[in-house]
Amino acid sequence: MNVELQCCALFIIFTITVMFLREKKLDLMNRRLFFRAICACFACLIFDILSVILINMSVFHGFSPFITGIVCKFYIMLLVLQGYFGYVYASTSLLPQDRTWANVARVFSHLIFGVGEVLMLVFPIGFTAYGRIVYSYGPSTSVAYALSAIYILATITITIAYRKQMPGRRFMAMLLWQGIWLLAAVIQFIDPELLLVGFASSFGMVILYIQLENPSEFIDSSTGLFTTNALSAYVHDKYRFGKRFSMFTAKIHFLTNYVDYNMEQDAVIRTARALVALGPEPAFRIDDDTFCVLYDDKDRMFERAANIKMQKDGVTDIPAKGTYLLIPDSLEMSGPDEFFRFLHTYLECEQEIVIANEELVLKLRRQNRTKELIEDALKNDRVEVFYQPFYNVKESRFNVAEALVRIRRENGDIVPPGEFIPVAEESGQIIPLGIRVFEKVCKFLARGEAQKYGLDQIEINVSAAQFDYENPAKFIFDYMEKYKIDPKWINLEITETAAAQNRDIMIRNMMRLIEKEVSFSLDDFGTGRSNIDYFVNMPVKTIKFDYTFTRSFFNNEKTKHMLTGMVDILHKIGMDVVAEGIETKEQMMVMQDMGVEYIQGFYYSKPIPEEDFLSFLAGKN
Ligand code: C2E
Ligand code: MG
Ligand code: MG
Repeated sequence: MNVELQCCALFIIFTITVMFLREKKLDLMNRRLFFRAICACFACLIFDILSVILINMSVFHGFSPFITGIVCKFYIMLLVLQGYFGYVYASTSLLPQDRTWANVARVFSHLIFGVGEVLMLVFPIGFTAYGRIVYSYGPSTSVAYALSAIYILATITITIAYRKQMPGRRFMAMLLWQGIWLLAAVIQFIDPELLLVGFASSFGMVILYIQLENPSEFIDSSTGLFTTNALSAYVHDKYRFGKRFSMFTAKIHFLTNYVDYNMEQDAVIRTARALVALGPEPAFRIDDDTFCVLYDDKDRMFERAANIKMQKDGVTDIPAKGTYLLIPDSLEMSGPDEFFRFLHTYLECEQEIVIANEELVLKLRRQNRTKELIEDALKNDRVEVFYQPFYNVKESRFNVAEALVRIRRENGDIVPPGEFIPVAEESGQIIPLGIRVFEKVCKFLARGEAQKYGLDQIEINVSAAQFDYENPAKFIFDYMEKYKIDPKWINLEITETAAAQNRDIMIRNMMRLIEKEVSFSLDDFGTGRSNIDYFVNMPVKTIKFDYTFTRSFFNNEKTKHMLTGMVDILHKIGMDVVAEGIETKEQMMVMQDMGVEYIQGFYYSKPIPEEDFLSFLAGKN
């Protein structure tokens, strides 16, 4: 009897089902739909085999044609069910959730299916067999062919239309699956002796299983926890269907000076076990040292997290500490992208425990907008440099200026650096931004006009991150060479934050530049961001008193004495002093009397654009 292929297919599908059921699974919509599709395929194959047997028995041995007809109908109804499930599997993850047309399409596909199944049940069916050829015919069978064709074509269409939304592998797997099915149907139609459809559908399931529902990608081999890929799929699934969840994340920091690799691995595995033992909720390993557990509601999360804390306190054999991130309500974030951005940002922060709330999410959004602003400004040349002149007390002229960066918005508004420098420092954008500022200053100096009006030097601010990699001096040399800049025209302002991170690299870089006669100042002195240690040990020639410090001179007796004494000491060790933030004539006079070398402040000028600065110099010097 012509059932060999179907029997093979049955065996394949049975194997997949067993494997699928045995593996550790996440409750994902796709997985549920895939399992439904496997079940439909399984049932369809059984009825396929049964119908071939019964048709033979009816035709050759007089078995009840009525019962055979019913079985044949069940077979084709299940065949359509399979096509329908295939379509649902593809469309659920692709069609948008919130569009009317998509909902109409959804209802329509259900409706076609329902009506089709009823028609197949009530319409007459015939069957025949001769030699190895066995088939059914009649209106009922025609409906089945038509509907299967509709679902296969609809699935292929959706897959192609939304190919940008899925990884290439998913796209190929879906097309292959449906293509094989279509091809088998056509071959079987042309040559009814080749009963290929059942085999093709089980083969399709193998492709889906291996390529898309593959468990190995979702399981971390060393801990048995779910992987980052699994987390991504899970979180996307939850947001897609508007389901709230809570998340507990722990990052272990091993104090690696004391721990060897094996002990560390052992500790990782024990952590994983402890997480799994905490309950049936899915636990993930999202980085070498970072784990998380997802809960359906926040009360449960807080209750379990308290347990984890207790366990942690009990572990004493390995020197480690943890940072914890708790997200009580996932819907605080707008979607998976923001969710993962939040996760990455706050896992890296220094705090031991972070609990996500509206305020933190809003902060993240602001930061993200700022990042986009910087990126956009760099791309569209909307980074500008303003100049603020310093008054040289001894020479009674303006011979130095500070370069201060601004971003011009599309509408012409100016964004001050306080709004974007901290974000740029955190995101690393300070590197291209710093290079841009430096180039603009070089271009300005290359014009030579400022020098004509008596300008000797421009001071440029440098952040920690700009000096934190091996050869940051390179771009400085490159631009100085390109624009023929005399290194004496350049002075770099650094702060304690700049110096704190990697002092050795920093000093090495400074020395390289000093060799070429670029000089340095210490900025923000008196704010706690700079201190005595820095000017004693750093190769700087000028100290800049921060404006909060000079301001305090005028309303705090103690500061007054300190500042006066400080100027004295600095002069004794051969340093120059810049007083920042001088806004009134009275303040200016006091600073002059105290003997500072330079005065910077709104009293003389605010930071102004290039052309205004040239006019200023032309007028004053
Ligand atoms: P800073 O280097 O200490 O710059 C001095 C700041 O004090 C400037 O603010 C300046 O406008 C302001 N200022 C000067 N005189 C007065 C005054 O009399 N009264 C008052 N109230 N303020 C005065 P700005 O331009 O907003 O810059 C703020 C900070 O942004 C700078 O502080 C510097 O740390 C950073 N920054 C600016 N440009 C750059 C840059 O190109 N690279 C880096 N890394 N940081 C920069
Ligand atoms: Mg400065
Ligand atoms: Mg300053």
